[in-house]
Amino acid sequence: MAAYDYETHDYDVVVIGAGGSGLRATLGMAEQGLRTACVTKVFPTRSHTVAAQGGIAASLSNMGPDHWQWHMYDTVKGSDWLGDTDAMEYLARHAPAAVYELEHYGVPFSRTEEGKIYQRPFGGHTTEFGEGPAVQRTCAAADRTGHAILHTLYGQSLKQQAEFYIEYFAIDLIMSEDGQCQGVVAWKLDDGTIHVFNAKMTVLATGGYGRAYFSATSAHTCTGDGGGMVARAGLALQDMEFVQFHPTGIYGSGCLITEGARGEGGYLTNSEGERFMERYAPQYKDLAPRDYVSRSMTMEIREGRGVGENGDHIHLNLNHLPAEALAERLPGISESAKIFAGVDVTKEPIPVLPTVHYNMGGIPTNYWGEVLNPTAEDPTAIVPGLMAVGEAGCASVHGANRLGSNSLIDLVVFGRAAAIRAGDVVEREGHTPTPNQVSVDKALDRFDHYRHADGGTPTAELRDEMQRTMQEDAAVFRASDTLKQGVEKMTAIAAKLDDLHVTDRSLVWNSDLMETLELTNLMPNALTTIVGAEARKESRGAHAHEDHAERDDKNWRVHTVSHVDGNTVKLSYRPVITDPLTTETEGGIELKRIAPKARTF
Ligand SMILES: Cc1cc2nc3c(=O)[nH]c(=O)nc-3n(C[C@H](O)[C@H](O)[C@H](O)COP(=O)(O)OP(=O)(O)OC[C@H]3O[C@@H](n4cnc5c(N)ncnc54)[C@H](O)[C@@H]3O)c2cc1C
Repeated sequence: MAAYDYETHDYDVVVIGAGGSGLRATLGMAEQGLRTACVTKVFPTRSHTVAAQGGIAASLSNMGPDHWQWHMYDTVKGSDWLGDTDAMEYLARHAPAAVYELEHYGVPFSRTEEGKIYQRPFGGHTTEFGEGPAVQRTCAAADRTGHAILHTLYGQSLKQQAEFYIEYFAIDLIMSEDGQCQGVVAWKLDDGTIHVFNAKMTVLATGGYGRAYFSATSAHTCTGDGGGMVARAGLALQDMEFVQFHPTGIYGSGCLITEGARGEGGYLTNSEGERFMERYAPQYKDLAPRDYVSRSMTMEIREGRGVGENGDHIHLNLNHLPAEALAERLPGISESAKIFAGVDVTKEPIPVLPTVHYNMGGIPTNYWGEVLNPTAEDPTAIVPGLMAVGEAGCASVHGANRLGSNSLIDLVVFGRAAAIRAGDVVEREGHTPTPNQVSVDKALDRFDHYRHADGGTPTAELRDEMQRTMQEDAAVFRASDTLKQGVEKMTAIAAKLDDLHVTDRSLVWNSDLMETLELTNLMPNALTTIVGAEARKESRGAHAHEDHAERDDKNWRVHTVSHVDGNTVKLSYRPVITDPLTTETEGGIELKRIAPKARTF
């Protein structure tokens, strides 16, 4: 057994992650007087949320008529009827209050002439239950909305006296014999010490796993650590096959150009200079949802109408827009286009390509953020002491496809919901129970094993193999033979974790070891993604299957539940929640089930 001394910390709540969701949860927990720690591997304001550009969705009606039920409808349709209706209702209903709360906390939103919060159009956001014109629902702070939100929430969390453990890497969850979460074991990166956080409630807010792919808009820190910890604890991941490709990553670098660029009037063209989205989505054109636009772009390229020397990308045009508007509304992306594509957006189009952007799947939760351990008898059974929020979680509001600007709102609405719930369920009196030593030792043994890993495969090499395989075999379009081949390749790649080689054996700023631990987290995320995709014999949202081109509600309107055992994945399925939370009437509209129908735009 590995011998490591460690320091123990007692809290009511430990939140792992300081992105938008982690900070909103931390702030809410501390506000209610819960002793709260926030553990994060990067400085809070360097979390990936800082990169969010376009904005945050809420039916404020500042730029024309809107209604939260229209937002809910768009989210249900956007999810291709795979989201849980109760959670989608909770999101849309609480979104306006959550945005006003951010405003009061100090987020510097862009303004209309009258001084109201500025809102721009985004893909898939419509009026009149998908019958009316596009709506301006996405609240924005220029094209730096995530930056503004993250800095504000960090300041507010400090004000509430939450305690931050910065540049601490969470290694594994501590689980009791009877399946309750008791906290987390972490490694302090700058001095090599080990810390046990003993808590009555643990919240995973660790973000997505975009880095399982070769080309992604997400930060290098988006390695699905929460999903990895959950899989190792024998718990479930859900709907992992649904990976969002954003239509406009800059060709080559993968750096994001926000959908807000099309919201402000930008449009896509092929090699013939044609605005091809008019053919695929006659009503909403370039503002159809992301899965739709990404597929249309891929079709154009496949049919020989891609731009550039190799005909392998598409043009995004902004040069028809007034230069002042670009400078005011899209300053950040104008700069990115210059740096990463050498393009002056006022004069030339930006070369773009669909790029991995968001994980709809994750750790299954209810709409309070409580982690589920679904069984056949009880598909909504709860894991005591464990919550998940943000991109790491799957409530599920995004189902098979997330609408643009619906993630930032998900972070704050469900970060807040988790805090409210914890306020109700966490016992404030008395000591935190001593954590299960067996579980702590197991985490430290694993840590020690990789620290001394002495095989023949360097971490970077194996990571590259994984990323390229995922990029090729679990792409925008998928087919039976490539998925089958992808599963075989990924199973073999995962087995090579046993052959890893770590060169640096020290404990202080050991990035070699940290990247290795991250790779061990990416792997179960990648494996469950491709195995879930191979099994799903239909097309829905971001899962476009060439051999099963239609959506199949009879057999496949179900959540995929995956458990990882070694390098094998066991799949089961749980029903989608189709009933709304309430049946009340508001604004003359009765809230009822939104029945599936064809998803056209
Ligand atoms: C370029 C880009 C632009 C986007 N633009 C928009 C937009 O305009 N609107 C929108 O709605 N959505 C947007 N999204 C999506 C949205 O920004 C993300 O889904 C969201 O910010 C994720 O937030 P999070 O709180 O879940 O996690 P993150 O912000 O990714 O934070 C994860 C946190 O977990 C911590 N962590 C992870 N692992 C560990 C570990 N092992 N130990 C300790 N700490 C750990 C990290 O330190 C970090 O603090 C965008 C995404 C990208 C990539």
